[in-house]
Amino acid sequence: MLKTKNKPLKYALLVIVLSVVFTKSVAAGEKIKIVTSLPDLAGIAREIGGKYVTTFAIAKGYQDPHFVDPKPSYMIRLQKADMFIQVGLDLEIGWVPPLLEGARNSKILPGAAGYVDASAGIPLLEVPQGDPAKLRAEGDIHIYGNPHYWLDPLRGKLIAENIYQGLCRVQPQNKTQFENNLSVFRNKIDELTAKLQARLEAYRGVKVIAFHNSWPYFDERFHFDLVGFIEPKPGIPPTPKHLVSVIKSMKQQAIRLMIISPYFSKKTSRLIAAKTGAVLVELAGSVGAQPEIKTYFDLFEFNIDKLIQGMEQAGIVPQNAK
Ligand SMILES: [Zn+2]
Repeated sequence: MLKTKNKPLKYALLVIVLSVVFTKSVAAGEKIKIVTSLPDLAGIAREIGGKYVTTFAIAKGYQDPHFVDPKPSYMIRLQKADMFIQVGLDLEIGWVPPLLEGARNSKILPGAAGYVDASAGIPLLEVPQGDPAKLRAEGDIHIYGNPHYWLDPLRGKLIAENIYQGLCRVQPQNKTQFENNLSVFRNKIDELTAKLQARLEAYRGVKVIAFHNSWPYFDERFHFDLVGFIEPKPGIPPTPKHLVSVIKSMKQQAIRLMIISPYFSKKTSRLIAAKTGAVLVELAGSVGAQPEIKTYFDLFEFNIDKLIQGMEQAGIVPQNAK
């Protein structure tokens, strides 16, 4: 029946066929129980799933998404879930595999209808050349490329498309509604992105340093200039020697803004600020990082507000008062 000589492909196709045939879809009147690794994915899932879904995000918006404690209560959530959505790449490598294993829910395992890898088809930045295993052994935590892609609203539309596909597999009866929601979401994202880009246009190219390399997608979309990081490599805390070189380079390049997150060392950030005069700007890495960030749209409104406030505070003069 499957006319291909490519064995791995043949088996992959077979797995897909079997998962489609044997997966019981969620009845039209029943809500799809979605569990996500990050609150951003839950936020997008709520936009696309609307009244047909309930969502639970394992990581909280104020936590470091690389390091989450895989508590047994999360396994119970996953056990009862109809769908699981994760960022993928190596972002959740330390905590999602043990949770999925503990949950023993075949409906949401990779390859099943209820599993969504949000990174499918996302154009990635900073894909390293080296062997991932070797990079991992060296302590790097971005071994397949930068995993913080949800911080670009336009890539958010691709995430939404992946979630839409998953919802249609799990509850095909409501495909039209999901499709409508997807279309509304795409329009809202386009409008929001254009609005926020216009707000930041006057600060195009302003040099910024960040604690951890979470911001290349956000930077690419909103055109400031992310020139360096406090961490020498993602996940590796700075040595005193590295800090000295960061401070020197910040002074040389007159960098006046530093992006931080609540879960990184405030002591280190404050020390650098004191030595360089840079303004610290605490951005939100995820939905829920602050109580007012309730939706995926709020995340970008909040961060652009904060960034502009920081630019003003640092005395950076807007370029185009045209
Ligand atoms: Zn990271």
